[in-house]
Amino acid sequence: MIHFVGAGPGAEDLITVRGAELLGQADLVIYAGSLVNPSLLDRYCRPDAKVLNSATMTLEEVVASMTEAERAGKTTVRLHTGDPSLYGAIREQMDALDRAHIPYDVTPGVSAFSGAAAALRAEYTLPAVSQSVIITRMEGRTPVPAGEKLHDLALHGCTMVLFLSAGLLEKVQDELLQGAYTEDTPAAIVYKATWPDQRIVNCTVGTLAAAARENGINRTALITVGGFLGASYDRSELYNPAFETGFRKATAAPPTEDTSASGKAKESHGQD
Ligand code: SAH
Repeated sequence: MIHFVGAGPGAEDLITVRGAELLGQADLVIYAGSLVNPSLLDRYCRPDAKVLNSATMTLEEVVASMTEAERAGKTTVRLHTGDPSLYGAIREQMDALDRAHIPYDVTPGVSAFSGAAAALRAEYTLPAVSQSVIITRMEGRTPVPAGEKLHDLALHGCTMVLFLSAGLLEKVQDELLQGAYTEDTPAAIVYKATWPDQRIVNCTVGTLAAAARENGINRTALITVGGFLGASYDRSELYNPAFETGFRKATAAPPTEDTSASGKAKESHGQD
């Protein structure tokens, strides 16, 4: 059996319990060495497990290693960074396993975009600010389909999280400014979210490229953009006394000073 497992964003205790248990059972572990924290291997793998780093392998070599292990009756974990469903290149592996009639399953992981929000102590979906998150990347050596150019997506002005783009920030800045964002729209560069050497650089859309340059960041970072990084937002209806839900009757109107939580972004808004 082959288990695709999300390793989480970096911290070794941010893998799921299921993922850690599968790692402990594996005879063969093929891990994405460019991003998976190797201390996960030390902590969870059996000492006799065979470990391969896929950063130096092709798809064909990865599939050949899995197939060989499967024919020998072994258990394989294919360990991907964050959650495997985002930029994980797992579909092509699963299709190859389907063709070879090899069974597999997938264990999700904590994506870097969740790790980044935690590092920032931020909420991406603030009422009256943004109720949508666009997860995308800047077009570089890998093209993006028509209709998904960054300047088109930027027209929405909602919360945006850019993967795989930290080395292309001049272009990112230009494209974002062609949309609904302005030079002053808040942005944050989150380098190695949840790793011991995590770093956060707060800036604006107009200073993204300069901020990354000054801090020597050009990889392993997420770019987060939008008003969610600002001070103003509306409090949630979910916990508003005057708002009835399926679980709670409406009571009194809230005291006026609580109706808008503007300026108290970290302290006082609902958690769910
Ligand atoms: N499947 C992964 C993403 C893989 S693509 C996930 O769900 O997180 C690789 C890109 O993810 C990197 O170029 C970087 O933009 C981002 N990334 C991965 N781990 C990160 C981390 N700990 N902090 C910041 N960005 C990270």
